Amino acid sequence: FGVLSDVFAAYAELTRSGPTAELDPVLPHRAPFRDYLGWLATRDQAAAEEYWRAELAGLTAPTPLPFDRQPAPGQSTRSADWLTVELSAAESDQLERFARNQRLTLNTVLAGMWGLALSRYAGQADICFGATVSGRPAELPGADTSIGIFINTVPVRLDVTGGAPVVEWLRAVQDRQSAARTVDFVALGRIQERSELPGGVNLFDSIMVFENYPISADMASGQDLRLRELQALETTNYPLTVVVSPGRRLSVEFGYDPALFDATTARRLAGHLTQLLRQLAAGPVGTLDQLDVLTESERAALVGGWRPGIDAVRTLPALFEAQVARTPDLPAVRSAAGPISYAELDRRANRLAHLLIARGAGPERVVALALPRSVDIVVAQLAVAKSGAAFLPVDPEYPAERIAFMLADADPVLVISTAELAAGLPTDVLLIDASAGQPEHAPTDADRRSALHPTAAAYLIYTSGSTGRPKGVLVPHAGLASFAAAEVDRFAVQPGDRVLQFSSPSFDASVLELCMSVLAGASLVVPPAGPLLGRQLAGVLAGQHVTHALIPPAALATVPAVELPEFRTVVVGGDACSAELVARWAPGRRMINAYGPTEATVVSTWSEPLVPGRTPPIGRPIANSTAYVLDPALRPVPVGIAGELYVTGVGLARGYHRQAGLTAERFLADPFGAPGSRMYRTGDVVRRTAEGELEFVGRADHQVKIRGFRIELGEIETALLAHPGVGEAVVVARADETSEKRLVGYVRPAAGAAAPEPGELYLFLARSLPAYLVPSAIVSLAEFPLSPNGKLDRDALPAPTRDALPQVGYQPPGTEAEQVLAEIWAEVLDATRVGIADDFFQLGGDSLRSLHITGRANAVFDTDLTPRDVLGARTVRGLAAVVEEKILADIERLAFGDDNVEKL
Ligand code: AMP
Ligand code: MG
Repeated sequence: FGVLSDVFAAYAELTRSGPTAELDPVLPHRAPFRDYLGWLATRDQAAAEEYWRAELAGLTAPTPLPFDRQPAPGQSTRSADWLTVELSAAESDQLERFARNQRLTLNTVLAGMWGLALSRYAGQADICFGATVSGRPAELPGADTSIGIFINTVPVRLDVTGGAPVVEWLRAVQDRQSAARTVDFVALGRIQERSELPGGVNLFDSIMVFENYPISADMASGQDLRLRELQALETTNYPLTVVVSPGRRLSVEFGYDPALFDATTARRLAGHLTQLLRQLAAGPVGTLDQLDVLTESERAALVGGWRPGIDAVRTLPALFEAQVARTPDLPAVRSAAGPISYAELDRRANRLAHLLIARGAGPERVVALALPRSVDIVVAQLAVAKSGAAFLPVDPEYPAERIAFMLADADPVLVISTAELAAGLPTDVLLIDASAGQPEHAPTDADRRSALHPTAAAYLIYTSGSTGRPKGVLVPHAGLASFAAAEVDRFAVQPGDRVLQFSSPSFDASVLELCMSVLAGASLVVPPAGPLLGRQLAGVLAGQHVTHALIPPAALATVPAVELPEFRTVVVGGDACSAELVARWAPGRRMINAYGPTEATVVSTWSEPLVPGRTPPIGRPIANSTAYVLDPALRPVPVGIAGELYVTGVGLARGYHRQAGLTAERFLADPFGAPGSRMYRTGDVVRRTAEGELEFVGRADHQVKIRGFRIELGEIETALLAHPGVGEAVVVARADETSEKRLVGYVRPAAGAAAPEPGELYLFLARSLPAYLVPSAIVSLAEFPLSPNGKLDRDALPAPTRDALPQVGYQPPGTEAEQVLAEIWAEVLDATRVGIADDFFQLGGDSLRSLHITGRANAVFDTDLTPRDVLGARTVRGLAAVVEEKILADIERLAFGDDNVEKL
């Protein structure tokens, strides 16, 4: 004890005179240091460094910590603020007994549990943190009586694989640490150099210090010192420092950098460590998976939060008819043809519904709607719902193969379309205007083939499928009533408001538009045909006096800054929204970020009205639903930690049409809900803030969003692989330089085959895939880049360059149509000049740009070109031919009248 008080005296001196103090005069025993240096010289430094190289192989980044604020690269960090948590005397005693019984050191137990906590935070099994070791080698003569701190910090790398039994796993940790003890004299800087981490990046951001000095606070206080100061000397350079002091009451001091962590977060993390220790103390322990970092109260808060409903469960026709009764004379739909009142819309839908019933439509049956955005499709959607059947939107622009697949898969009793579109469809159709003379009263269960219950499917919507074929999501009526009521409230909709019909009917955002308009006394504004982007969209918003619209972020970003005083509510959704967009659109109006997969009736969570200043959250669950953030073992993850989002509630889809296996994979039993309830696994990674809001982080898989379109990259890869010349295919969504996200396909030729022409592959894909699934560039590679462990290295795939693609010689435009089109292309595709044989895709074209081109071309030629014409023609020459044909047909129609055209 006398010796120890010398040490404290030395530290006291050091603290008083600052870091420049010479220890020599106050530390009387210098000899051991010299011995130590001598001992070091006898070690096999190279072998020890080799040990660390092997130990750290494959580690390429520090284990991510749950920072409240990410440190900037190179930012210096400091565990400047401290807090202390303690186990009770009884718990400390139990924990020590656990360790002793299992022949584990307390040090191992603490290191293991800290590693487990880190792995839960990082969402990965492979973790690394630092540990200070006394560096006091047992073989050094007199080491145990020497004075001095031989401290070094070395990495502790753990494989925290959930199924491992806790005790065996801890023993393995202990063995590994014993091995490390023989080589822990290697300086951290040297160890770092032998690792695979890039220079300047720390091996770890947190360290654990195990205070096993035989000292007590009493002794220290004799020198008027607090132990913390002794520790702080060793530990200030990391964002997080965990100092463990065993004793009658095991205590943990938690040092954190207040620039990176909030105090509440640090307290929560410290609580997690003690929670793990308490579980070991309480025993018995099973596998790592069975240990939970959450305290009881934390857990209750995370899985609670059911948002109570505000309306009873009802069907879409019941909701609509109630609104018709409330506001029969208000306009329900507005288009270039003028407004249609609620009463009139109801009569039209009723007539068609009676016809549909007569033709076999009814509950549990499907009616396909091959119609564009229009007044017609609103009538048809309501009519199908009134018949009791589910409507299936089929985009008439989709390639024939895709349409044929959807119709075969869904097996509708009827396909509704228009006379113009009928020819392009592979089946007989019921014309939308064929219902003249049908009864005008709303069909009741007496009229229907069977009773319509809210559990019946309301619609069937196809979405991209990773295995190569699209999957149909069957959504029942049940979720619509509370969704509609909640929408009207959150978006502040009033009778007389005007909601823009923006979404393609193929996507469930169109259901959001329908519910917030014709179920609420507002009117749905049907815009003129053509692209809704940029100036055009601004023109529609202003010209049609739109008050409410849901616009995906990518489209909203194209709208120029113009005064839109009537545009009161803008809803963004379908894809992540940037802070910049909020700054531009939130001031002066209500802006809501709505999040939701098709599988949960359009919206699962939404934000409060947004205020500029940060990346907008996706907010909280809507009425009658809950959201969980879970780890792969379906455990709730703590606040601030990224996990996968699961949603539950009245809006859950029934599942995937005729895909029981896939349904079972994504719709799971809800372990936190009432018996029999289900939850949907979204595949989205989110984080819950301390305030309980959800923040969108990204995807857990290869699903991407491009301009709001939901895309499974696997679907495109499968389509590419179907080409005989393709041996291997990978598709990525990349945002290069200033361009927005685009799809880029990479192919490796099949064995013995020549590299397929990108041009041929585009055509091949366009035959089976909708335009938004066709990549805007396809690159042929001899070999795919691999990461050191032999897996495809997506990040190393080269950016497509124009030079890398086969060039067609420049061919100047000849005809007037070619000249005009070449100019439009050059402008839209940002090219200096476009020849008539240049390939649309090779010029960087994609579906958005095809929309721009048709928009402008139609304005010039007064034609009705569609993006499909552009994607089909693929060259200015080809498109000019289409234009000329259309103009010619128009002239003929004018000259000879409609009836004669066929005969010509
Ligand atoms: P969909 O079924 O087409 O509505 O696509 C659902 C997917 O779109 C979600 O799983 C998310 O990946 C993405 N998504 C939808 N809304 C948002 C949003 N507000 N922020 C970020 N991603 C979103
Ligand atoms: Mg959605």
